Amino acid sequence: MKYKNFSKIQLILIHTLVLLHLFLINTTVWAKKPVIVTTYQYIAGITEQITGNSATVIALAPPQFDPHYIVPKPSYIAKLRNANLLIINGAQLEIGWLPQLIRQANNPAIITGTKGFLDLSNFVKKIDVPTALSRAMGDVHPEGNPHFYLDPHTIPVLAKAIYERLCTIVPKNYNLYSKNYTTFIEKFNARLTVWDAQMTKVKGKSAIEYHKIYDYLLIRYGIHLAGTIEPVPGIPPASKHIAELENTIYTVSFILQDVYHPYDAAQYLSQKFSIPVIVLPHDVGATSDANDIFSLFDAIVGRITQ
Ligand SMILES: [Zn+2]
Repeated sequence: MKYKNFSKIQLILIHTLVLLHLFLINTTVWAKKPVIVTTYQYIAGITEQITGNSATVIALAPPQFDPHYIVPKPSYIAKLRNANLLIINGAQLEIGWLPQLIRQANNPAIITGTKGFLDLSNFVKKIDVPTALSRAMGDVHPEGNPHFYLDPHTIPVLAKAIYERLCTIVPKNYNLYSKNYTTFIEKFNARLTVWDAQMTKVKGKSAIEYHKIYDYLLIRYGIHLAGTIEPVPGIPPASKHIAELENTIYTVSFILQDVYHPYDAAQYLSQKFSIPVIVLPHDVGATSDANDIFSLFDAIVGRITQ
């Protein structure tokens, strides 16, 4: 046979070249997958529903921490440097941690104003927009309340914005994105009907929360907000404020507690007034039962209506 004429070294060389070739083909295919970086897990959760496996979707902020105060890591800069699209919540939720990372990543494809930068807050009517800025109003919500995505009815609005931008960034995937987007919206709307029905059980009740994070959810389902454990957004409670809360607490049915603020004030009020504390996820992955964009709301609705 002809190939008996090859020396062992030549065969090893050919073998290596074939492997290298296969590796390069794989690398090229991978590199052609668009890289989409999102600030929070819930945005990645929606995006993945539309891209399927056709994109690499990376969320930066770990879900168990305070979304206003994510600790920037060098690895986030590397992820932003390779991104074709950056999707943020906006309304200044990321103001404390993201701008410096974008500067350091130095990726012209994802800077503000380009088609590679998508701010979801532009698609939502925000509540609590201050008419005049004052430090007394707290420092963390100067453009209004940024936690709009915790009303499940907001998710289809955000999904549409993400879908349309994906089609602009990767037009060759238009058919795939359209098919996945339609499937997602149908499935999500079906779940919305179920959540809406479940939430009628708590309509008209009163709640306390730590931070004004569940306001859009409470307004959607007719739950009255009797007060917040923090006196203004971003400021920890003093005993005087807790004493004031006690004056209104007799009407309250439950205390909503996120996973990242201290539990002590909620536990104190709960024990003193026999009101249950309900721990709610604020993002996909914040609690073990909130694994994706569907189970995030299954967990929120299930825990409130239990
Ligand atoms: Zn906030």
